[in-house]
Amino acid sequence: MEQTTEHVRCLIIGSGPAGFTAGIYAGRANLSPVLYEGMQPGGQLTTTTDIENFPGYPDGISGNDMMEDLRKQATRFGCDARWGVATAADLSAKPYRITIDGEKQITCDSLIIATGATAKYLGLQDEVKYQGMGVSACATCDGFFYRKKKVAVVGGGDTACEEAAYLSGLAEHVYMIVRKPFLRASQIMQDRVQETPNITILFEHETLGLYGDNGVEGVHLIKRKGQSDEEKVDIAIDGFFLAIGHKPNSDIFKDYIELDETGYIRTTPGTPRTQLDGVFAAGDVADPHYRQAVTAAGSGCAAAIEAERYLSSNKL
Ligand code: NDP
Repeated sequence: MEQTTEHVRCLIIGSGPAGFTAGIYAGRANLSPVLYEGMQPGGQLTTTTDIENFPGYPDGISGNDMMEDLRKQATRFGCDARWGVATAADLSAKPYRITIDGEKQITCDSLIIATGATAKYLGLQDEVKYQGMGVSACATCDGFFYRKKKVAVVGGGDTACEEAAYLSGLAEHVYMIVRKPFLRASQIMQDRVQETPNITILFEHETLGLYGDNGVEGVHLIKRKGQSDEEKVDIAIDGFFLAIGHKPNSDIFKDYIELDETGYIRTTPGTPRTQLDGVFAAGDVADPHYRQAVTAAGSGCAAAIEAERYLSSNKL
């Protein structure tokens, strides 16, 4: 049986703040956008607890509630939000072609990629067990809940140092759990954490697990694993922050648009434009620097405005 291909003017992939904000703007511009929600409808915010730093919510809001509000707002203006994961892309010719769930073909005149990024985790059972109960991959999002408490940050790169420095302004004490005998971060960030009195860097430590009855109460570590002086150490903490890197969800586009060495989509600075006409990238998939809901929403807005201008100037 011949497969039918649907054609749309504006296709949005991703359902975080970038995707839905693009949906609101594209809907209001009469582009009849179709949005595929992807593997994690609502995006990364649905894995955090309360969001207190998104402007407009003075009392905070849960990640799930905020994404539900954004979804409603986008659909109110005609954005067709659908379940489905973009599994392949062919951007070699216009119209651009996306495969959904390995079977459905959809072509589009303009494409907004808002597929986000995924924080890397260590892969421990306890990270799942204590998710939202002391385990977080975003200090800027969740650090506030650990004022005057003890926290640990895993990782020795720039992100880990930035998160540790940020948390040191809130928490009583910050431990950095670093598996090597040195930090990988830039010298300036190394100096900053080393000079901060309430940050202790635990070099050559790896995490074995977490403990606690009602949330995280401590971490089991192993020092100098595999060496003759290997030692197990427990440290009392209230929060466990992962900062071992993010993976942008850009794999299916890599043959067509330029990515940086980590996989973030390269856009013209200050804009969501990729090097392909009519293809825009918004939110964390193109942002190694800020990774905030509000910056993602802003870039989703910009992407929809760009898509509208592209379509009208090309009479599409
Ligand atoms: P990086 O890949 O630079 O660092 C990851 C860190 O996590 C490393 O210390 C690594 O250890 C550690 N790590 C990785 N996997 C594990 C694991 N399984 N167990 C324990 N530790 C682990 O990631 P970042 O997110 O820090 O940075 C990404 C890029 O973004 C970098 O290029 C960075 O410079 C840049 N960046 C720049 C900033 C700025 O300029 N202000 C801010 C933030 C990021 P190991 O060293 O042993 O591999």
